[in-house]
Amino acid sequence: MLAQMAPAPGVLTIDLDALVDNWRRVARDVAPAQAAAVVKADAYGLGAGRVVPALAAAGCRAFFVANLVEALAIRPLVPDDAVLAVLNGLHPGGEPFAAEAGITPVLNSVAQARRWQPFARPAMLQVDTGMARHGLDMAEAAALAGDADFRAGVPLLALISHLACADEPDRAENADQLARFAAASALFPGVARCFANSGGVQLGAAYHGDMVRAGLCLYGAEPADGRGVPFRPVVGLAARVLQTRTVAAGTGVGYGQTWQAPGETRLALLSIGYADGFPRSLSGRGAVWAQGALLPIVGRVSMDVTVVDASALSEGALTEGDLVEIIGPHCQIEDVAQEAGTIAYEILTQLGHRYERRYL
Ligand SMILES: *Cc1c(COP(=O)(O)O)cnc(C)c1O
Repeated sequence: MLAQMAPAPGVLTIDLDALVDNWRRVARDVAPAQAAAVVKADAYGLGAGRVVPALAAAGCRAFFVANLVEALAIRPLVPDDAVLAVLNGLHPGGEPFAAEAGITPVLNSVAQARRWQPFARPAMLQVDTGMARHGLDMAEAAALAGDADFRAGVPLLALISHLACADEPDRAENADQLARFAAASALFPGVARCFANSGGVQLGAAYHGDMVRAGLCLYGAEPADGRGVPFRPVVGLAARVLQTRTVAAGTGVGYGQTWQAPGETRLALLSIGYADGFPRSLSGRGAVWAQGALLPIVGRVSMDVTVVDASALSEGALTEGDLVEIIGPHCQIEDVAQEAGTIAYEILTQLGHRYERRYL
């Protein structure tokens, strides 16, 4: 309790209104196809415990997670009339748990289909259309489609597949996968088609099938670079100033002294580090924002501390305990990710647990 009341080293703001708006936008864009929400990895780090009820209240009736343990954890939050599906399928021995809890496995191999068959419960079936990840190949899918016992025993809620290049709209592989998915779908007439992730949603109606599986765009990040998609930002992150100091020219900063002050420099120490999911690859790269100025990161990002050059601000402008923007309107998540040499997905899912979380 006291730990929750004391000033936290950082503040993570999660705008549930914006999240719900983003889901509604997807639902509108893809209608009459259904908009499922991908809430794996604790809803991309934002907290499935808050995200799932918000989306359920808005009318979302299909949720995807990566694995059975995640599914069991959020099962009580998912309405009884909604589908909760496990993208990675079940490890051997997981079947009774899924069946008991009313969790829908995605059957990704013939072996998984055979293990699920005795439970005679709904499932989704995945075909691999060109990613060499999960799913049956075409010949396996055709054999299963023609297996009368399997078809009679296991109601298929959807046929699914996943796009390898959805975030690159110009790649020819997208249309190739779509054509293979259509061929697979012809083997399972009447079974709902579920193909598009966030990037796929933006590839257009041909990719929407009967249900889309949107993750990233719900959380306010861009699936594809430079497309200016108007999803509302959901995540804000601020870190507190630990202290400020002015150093003389030539002073080395941080582990390895990888940065030396070129002249007298005002530094601010921030209470965020790689243990908080702030990538160490931002050492000497990128910036934070405070009071109208971008403050470059200098030296190495360490476990609990990051140092910025605050010379752009007047003396005393930043003081101990002030919050500076790490992710927000001036430090967009895509830009932070790019500076760090990664993608927004990784920044989100690595968000740490030492922040105070404020849900709006
Ligand atoms: C993670 C995932 C999604 C969601 O992808 P986004 O790009 O975040 O929308 C959809 N389908 C599968 C199979 C996934 O693994």
